[in-house]
Amino acid sequence: MRQKLVVGNWKLNGSLEANKSLLGALLEAIPRQEKAVCAVCVPFPYLAQVQGLLAGSGVAWGSQDVSRHDKGAFTGEVSGPMLAEFGCRYAIVGHSERRSLFGDTDAVVVEKYAAAQRAGLDPIFCVGETLEERERGRTEAVLARQLDALLAKGAAVLGKGVIAYEPVWAIGTGRTATSAQAQEAHAFLRGRIARQDANVAARVPMLYGGSVKAANAAELFAMADVDGGLVGGASLVADEFVAIWRAASAKV
Ligand code: PEP
Repeated sequence: MRQKLVVGNWKLNGSLEANKSLLGALLEAIPRQEKAVCAVCVPFPYLAQVQGLLAGSGVAWGSQDVSRHDKGAFTGEVSGPMLAEFGCRYAIVGHSERRSLFGDTDAVVVEKYAAAQRAGLDPIFCVGETLEERERGRTEAVLARQLDALLAKGAAVLGKGVIAYEPVWAIGTGRTATSAQAQEAHAFLRGRIARQDANVAARVPMLYGGSVKAANAAELFAMADVDGGLVGGASLVADEFVAIWRAASAKV
């Protein structure tokens, strides 16, 4: 049975006050030692606050990015060992906003994945096609290119990692992939990993991301290869996020 998980991506949102009230609501609703993992990936400056509020709870936390370097003259970067010191369990790498707005290439994303693993974090490796690529029938080619950059290191790197399929056209747009579209992409990705290592492919958790909300989560998570969600906007609304996590828990 694969790990089920729901991860919130707060993006560039939050304040000390707002975080306290959002996390307080999550702590009330999410018991410890649940089978489906609930996690929040927060802006770097809030990691100390989040660690203080969530330590020992049923809610894990992580970052939205990580430097590919562990230390040195890299002004503005935040390293894996630093994230580990703040108790991060996860680090998102290759989010489409990092790829399109901040120049993260496939090669850089793979280096960030490795950096997260060196620090003992579980990387959440994001892949996904743009609307134009989908309309040109390029979805599988794009997913293959992004995934193969990682698989070139050997499928074993996915032994402790998570994949998130996030069609770019569905992120923050309110336009969700249908459950059939999500399943098709996830099955494609899993099949491609299986060509290298069937055991790793069977075990790696695969999240869908792109306008997941309480109203569509159960249908998406009912798909055989969808193990939970990477949730942006709806992760900022406690009731929505908890309902999404419950939908993943119901699948366990
Ligand atoms: C995301 O930020 O990864 C995301 C999927 O955002 P949203 O849920 O808002 O589409």
